[in-house]
Amino acid sequence: MTTQWMRSGTDRPCQKDPELWFSNEAKDRQAAVAACNTCPLLQPCAEYARAHPSEYGVWGGLTRKARSGQTSPTPRPRRKITAPVDCSSATAYFQHRRRGETCDVCWPRRAPQIQAERQARLDREHAAHGGSMIGYHAHVALGEQPCDDCRQANIRRLAEARASRRNNTRTRTAA
Ligand code: SF4
Ligand SMILES: [Zn+2]
Ligand SMILES: [Zn+2]
Repeated sequence: MTTQWMRSGTDRPCQKDPELWFSNEAKDRQAAVAACNTCPLLQPCAEYARAHPSEYGVWGGLTRKARSGQTSPTPRPRRKITAPVDCSSATAYFQHRRRGETCDVCWPRRAPQIQAERQARLDREHAAHGGSMIGYHAHVALGEQPCDDCRQANIRRLAEARASRRNNTRTRTAA
């Protein structure tokens, strides 16, 4: 379902790195929650999230678990990592991400899992919606041509966003 705030042209953190918002990794989801807390659309998005607890992914700073009341919605403050990352450790990839780094050792090692997560996300989008904008980006990230349903859904969302931006401009000009 698309609502008014979703159509607004406001920049939101989840547009830049949507994978975090739909990741199967708890650490990614916590990073998404932290980013949501800086988002100008946090309030309407959180209202939407509470009204749609079963939506997949993080919405309005709330994980699906938090929305269904199983955990506290307040993110725990993060410990800052200052020690050098040990690239042989299983958590090195996430440590790099938290520091905003990329790594020639950790990225290729993690690539198969990332592809598997993308494929799983795409399968969920197809099962739930037939095609969707998230599905479109998952196809592209997987290095394949988006299917017709996802391409159409993406075109619709972009057209909605453009129309909403035009409306906003008109409202501002008229004010
Ligand atoms: S609050 Fe909503 S719109 Fe903002 S970053 Fe989080 S999920 Fe995206
Ligand atoms: Zn590394
Ligand atoms: Zn598709």
